[in-house]
Amino acid sequence: MITLGIEGTAHTLGVGIVGPGNKVLADVRRTYVPKAGIHPREAAQFMGDNFGEAVSSALSSAGVAFKDVGLVSFSQGPGLGPCLRTVATGARALSLHHRIPLLGVNHCVAHIEVGRVFCGLRDPLVLYVSGGNTQVLMLRGRRYRIFGETLDIGVGNMLDKFGRETGLVHPAGPKIEALAREGKNYVELPYAVKGTDLSFSGILTAAVNCFSSGGHSLEDVCFSLQETSFSMLAEVSERALAHLKAKEVLLTGGVGNNSRLQDMLTEMCREHGARFGVPKGYCSDNGVMIAVLGALMHGAGVRQGIEDTIVRQKFRTDAVDISWDPWA
Ligand code: AMP
Ligand code: MG
Repeated sequence: MITLGIEGTAHTLGVGIVGPGNKVLADVRRTYVPKAGIHPREAAQFMGDNFGEAVSSALSSAGVAFKDVGLVSFSQGPGLGPCLRTVATGARALSLHHRIPLLGVNHCVAHIEVGRVFCGLRDPLVLYVSGGNTQVLMLRGRRYRIFGETLDIGVGNMLDKFGRETGLVHPAGPKIEALAREGKNYVELPYAVKGTDLSFSGILTAAVNCFSSGGHSLEDVCFSLQETSFSMLAEVSERALAHLKAKEVLLTGGVGNNSRLQDMLTEMCREHGARFGVPKGYCSDNGVMIAVLGALMHGAGVRQGIEDTIVRQKFRTDAVDISWDPWA
């Protein structure tokens, strides 16, 4: 079966097409670049303006027509309400017009499943790090249970806000990664781990102050910001790994692109004899992950009527019944 997946929770409108065996046939991404922080209505307008073109480009690059598509899936939540509603409306229109079954899927579970499937992992401890979300999870009894998470903002959000205060372009994560490579001196920043939970707002304020009034170079502050916040992520992951006796670790979500974070987790896994995986090229928001999850759900017999596709802004990762067999 061919599945067309549409992502649109925040900044990226993604249209992915996958065929049997999760073969990627198309991966089109159109990204909204905000002047300051993401403005929900502007982002939604961007998604509406680009929807038709992105879907057409994906179909033509895959070399398929609507008659070949067996399922349309879309990101039902969590995310920004206006973006979710715009993309859901587009997905419903495609489904109704072309008479293709429709499934709304959980964005966070999609980040996890694309990683699990593409990295060939069976039962990983998951560190999911993106703009709005920071969670440590593992599948237990048909749910991705959350063992730890941020108590305030997501780590990506913290990096982006630091970038906004220091004049870096959005999203700041990749720019901070590049600057951090030039940093030499470690500046002490607040380290906030509470069991397996984390907090990032204090470190954000302290890092901004270190740069604006502390006389430290941007390179040194970026280096210290990464070392501190990524050590926090590695610590909570290691604690969960030890408790849960996990044999595999999956890093996913946009911050998972960061090679320093990948290196820290690789080292942590090596010490514990665990396998490490990161879905390179698919950590950031994309339509392929929405298609992969849609196909898994459809294969497990999940069906939705139009009335079931209402968007869910606060759709929790652990609210999803994992009815497919991740070990199949
Ligand atoms: P997502 O919504 O999953 O696409 O994740 C977006 C977040 O990932 C944003 O906060 C970005 O700043 C962050 N991000 C992307 N690339 C990197 C990177 N190389 N290092 C750190 N953060 C990154
Ligand atoms: Mg995301």
